[in-house]
Amino acid sequence: FTVLGIETSCDDTGVAIVNSDRQIISEAIHLQQQLHEPYGGIVPNLAMSSHQQYLPLVIREALDKANMDIAKDIDVIAVTRGPGLPACLGNGLSAGKALAAALCKPLIGVHHMASHALTARLTHPTPNLLPFPFLTLLISGGHTLILVARGVNHYIHLGTTVDDSVGEAYDKIARLLKIPWLKGRGGGPGAALEQFAEKGDSKKFSVPIPMTKDKRRKEAMDLSFSGLKTSVNALITKHNLDIDDENIKRDLASTFQKAAIAHLTDKLELAFKWCKEKAIPLTALVASGGVASNKSIRFSLESLAVEQYNVPLICPPPHLCTDNGVMIAWAGVERFRIGLVDEYTIDHMPKWPISSLGSSTSL
Ligand code: ATP
Ligand code: FE
Repeated sequence: FTVLGIETSCDDTGVAIVNSDRQIISEAIHLQQQLHEPYGGIVPNLAMSSHQQYLPLVIREALDKANMDIAKDIDVIAVTRGPGLPACLGNGLSAGKALAAALCKPLIGVHHMASHALTARLTHPTPNLLPFPFLTLLISGGHTLILVARGVNHYIHLGTTVDDSVGEAYDKIARLLKIPWLKGRGGGPGAALEQFAEKGDSKKFSVPIPMTKDKRRKEAMDLSFSGLKTSVNALITKHNLDIDDENIKRDLASTFQKAAIAHLTDKLELAFKWCKEKAIPLTALVASGGVASNKSIRFSLESLAVEQYNVPLICPPPHLCTDNGVMIAWAGVERFRIGLVDEYTIDHMPKWPISSLGSSTSL
């Protein structure tokens, strides 16, 4: 069967067609970076009106690229139901519901973060699907989550950020250092900061790794990223640094990135240990979400997973780590296959804890 997926939870309007043989038949996306860059972050009202304007065209483009007729060739409509920006979710959901109802097709409301995790099962190049359970690190603009994925609809929540997401930390520090956004797909402030960090020296300055001082915070699987911006700011003031100097920008970017990575790996190590204690037979570490396209982060996660815990690191390709329609269509495939279909009356869920998903289908 063939699923059309619609994603509008944040600032990208994505539509894709994926089938149950794991083929991505077509994909279309409209990015809003240029719209939001002048404001230094996503402006919900602008995001909403842009989805409203472009979603019909993106749906049309996905169908045209696939050379498919929606009535004849599409079996299921999947759409992001939450979490995300309420008005943006509403846009995509209304479109998805209207299409499904008008065409008498099954409708599937998708959990955006679950779909980031499930993408690994689409893209991992083995004949069989990557089996559950796998440890999952979801690092994006709005989320920083450590989970155990036990099934398509079953996730154990191990930790999350107590303040900013790691993506927010990248974005805020890129703004602090006045780093221009990278243009195009896979662009934005975080990707731009990564490029600066690659050419910097992380040893010239140092910032404390979050949550390492206090014993209770050190032992928790939760994370914290807001202190890193304060620390970088403090370095600038203390040493009276000129952030218009490209080399200083690079060194500070590199210093921040090193501490952020150390914090992520510290917490993942606790998660691996927790799984070991509970005798959960992990098949992999999956990392997804926009920040998981970062090469230095991937490198460190891979060392941890492979060398210390003997499981592979599986990351979707970078363009499927950031928001896209493919992940929603694929989550639709996964859910439809086990009979999880929704009513045409479902509402959006701007806040939707992933651990609240049902566990009855822990395949
Ligand atoms: P969510 O998925 O939580 O709703 P979102 O849709 O904003 O949030 P994504 O599109 O998955 O998130 O990711 C965007 C975030 O990833 C931004 O904060 C962006 O700066 C960051 N990001 C993208 N590429 C990189 C990179 N190479 N290094 C670090 N951060 C990156
Ligand atoms: Fe996302």
